Amino acid sequence: MREPILLTPGPLTTTLKTKTAMLSDWGSWDAAFNELTASVCADLLAIAHAQEDHVCVPLQGSGTFAVEAAIGTLLPRTGKLLVLVNGAYGKRMARAVEVMGRQVAILEFAENAPVDAAAVARRLAQEPAITHVGVIHCETSTGVLNPLADIARVVAAQGKRLIIDAMSSFGALDIDARELQFDALVASSNKCLEGVPGMGIIIARRAALVESLGNSHSLSMDLHDQYVYMQKTGQWRFTPPTHVVAALRAALDQYHAEGGQPGRLARYQANYQMLVTGLARLGLTPFLARDDQAPIIVTFHAPEHPDYDFRALYEAVRERGFVLYPGKLTEVETFRVGCIGAINEAEIGQAVAAIGEGLNQLGWL
Ligand SMILES: *Cc1c(COP(=O)(O)O)cnc(C)c1O
Repeated sequence: MREPILLTPGPLTTTLKTKTAMLSDWGSWDAAFNELTASVCADLLAIAHAQEDHVCVPLQGSGTFAVEAAIGTLLPRTGKLLVLVNGAYGKRMARAVEVMGRQVAILEFAENAPVDAAAVARRLAQEPAITHVGVIHCETSTGVLNPLADIARVVAAQGKRLIIDAMSSFGALDIDARELQFDALVASSNKCLEGVPGMGIIIARRAALVESLGNSHSLSMDLHDQYVYMQKTGQWRFTPPTHVVAALRAALDQYHAEGGQPGRLARYQANYQMLVTGLARLGLTPFLARDDQAPIIVTFHAPEHPDYDFRALYEAVRERGFVLYPGKLTEVETFRVGCIGAINEAEIGQAVAAIGEGLNQLGWL
């Protein structure tokens, strides 16, 4: 029996190579482990073309920990973050700022459309107290792709700083620090890099990080301290997720072998194409307009049947070896299918067949 394939946006299906990279134990003081960390960080900076002016700070924990740490470290206590919200992850970012007791403003957009950069420019002009802007690159709650370059331009033009949650896009979509101005870009080990969960990644502008001494309200989430300590010792402060780092090293080797970002994107685009055309044959249509959609995760309208229930569909498809993801919208009944992970068109084709059989069994086709 094959393990179930995760059609979820992380944790996701990883390769056997990545999984077997976790079969050794590493001492956190060991030079070999420090080299592993350094090589992973060097690769991550190179993926973002950020070797000149930026540094990579890894952090233990899931992606949300890294977002919270980036804000807590880079937003001064007297600063104000404008969060651009068109889905659940934007709301979560704003909530993190509230919880740490700093000033937050929210600019909300419809969930079925990208953030409008012109509206951001107007808001920044109206509210000079805003010092930073937070944006979600690919809003995973629907799969909508926000216009990062346009937003970064508007933010820089008004002299503000940008914090990007690129959790579900980093590694697959092109992000080039030579062209894009930002203070922090946040990602994690377990999405498009196809590692296992447990490590957050912050690519921070060096000058902004150096300035951030004393901003953090938290000991364990202080990226300035994490960075300074790592520079000095080569080590993480506090217990590192050793197996996760080793798995990410293996995942990055495979990433390069696949042709890096363009190669990864091409496979995800093929997965996306296969998924959307396959499910269209079953009468299932995407929630978003094609042009607004990233090839990362697709939200589909649920089948129009009075008895529709996601749990039942989930179980029917799970029995056939595939794991779906629930929708995250309150107004419309939807479910989501990820295009990312160590899967290709063949597995997506099988997943489409499994969804078809599941719907048939439930009498919803
Ligand atoms: C996955 C994800 C996160 C982090 O979620 P965790 O559950 O903490 O890993 C944050 N932002 C976006 C856009 C994501 O897709």
